[in-house]
Amino acid sequence: MTYGSPVWHTPETLRHSRKTVNKKLQVIQNTALRRVLGAYRATPTAVLEAEAGVPPVDLYLDSLQLKARQRLYTSGTTALINQACKRIRNQLRGRRGRARTHRQTPGQTKTTWAQEPRTANAHTNPQEATFKDPKKWLEAKWKKRWRDYLTNIPPEQRSLAQRVELHKNDLQIHTGLTKAESALTTQIRTEKISFADFLTARKVPGYSSECHCGFHKQTAKHVILFCPDRTDRETLVQATGTNDYYRWMTVPRMVRKVVKWLIKQEVLPQFALAAEVIREEE
Ligand SMILES: [Zn+2]
Repeated sequence: MTYGSPVWHTPETLRHSRKTVNKKLQVIQNTALRRVLGAYRATPTAVLEAEAGVPPVDLYLDSLQLKARQRLYTSGTTALINQACKRIRNQLRGRRGRARTHRQTPGQTKTTWAQEPRTANAHTNPQEATFKDPKKWLEAKWKKRWRDYLTNIPPEQRSLAQRVELHKNDLQIHTGLTKAESALTTQIRTEKISFADFLTARKVPGYSSECHCGFHKQTAKHVILFCPDRTDRETLVQATGTNDYYRWMTVPRMVRKVVKWLIKQEVLPQFALAAEVIREEE
């Protein structure tokens, strides 16, 4: 999807950027992430990215652009292109018979952008150029966007997926899980799960947010950690050595146990088949 992107992609802060292309790519990436994670449509993009450890596509393209600009520069290609541009400009000037102020070419704009601000015009002076570190740059931008996203969500309303640190390629907790288990893991962590509270929020007819035990909100956290209607929670506590919900849903070996336990509880009809599979394995 990002093939050849240093040629066609321009960072959003620059004049030549094409935001509609970024939007389209973002939609494609979202669809793929939702499919891979088994997440509901209601799961926000920022959460999908955090859960999968996949950065926003525009920032990823920017980081590829940084890498490419640095490569072109250090290989001397940038200087070569600049010389050629100058030559062409001089020829044009000769023909028109007057000097014209010239704008930077799109490539020059990108090279300037790829460098640290204090050497903003260093493409004319090779000794001075320092380029932004693509990896660090991507991390910092992604973290900032994540923080900005979270500022709109009161801490007490955050799902577990909204309380984790960002990590690239972070699919560890899904490793070795079946498709059903992996999807359920995502749904628990994002609290986008077909329990009453979410279904009511989504205005699914025939639901109110209470749990059958009488608690006012049937959330994944309630069902897993507190609901008196669930059985056998002690074995889960024993097997994991804790009853800390955050650890249960973030430590890979614990996640596995919790998810299998929840499937066997058969509170979610769509996981009935998965429950059978687990029982056969045991
Ligand atoms: Zn309950």
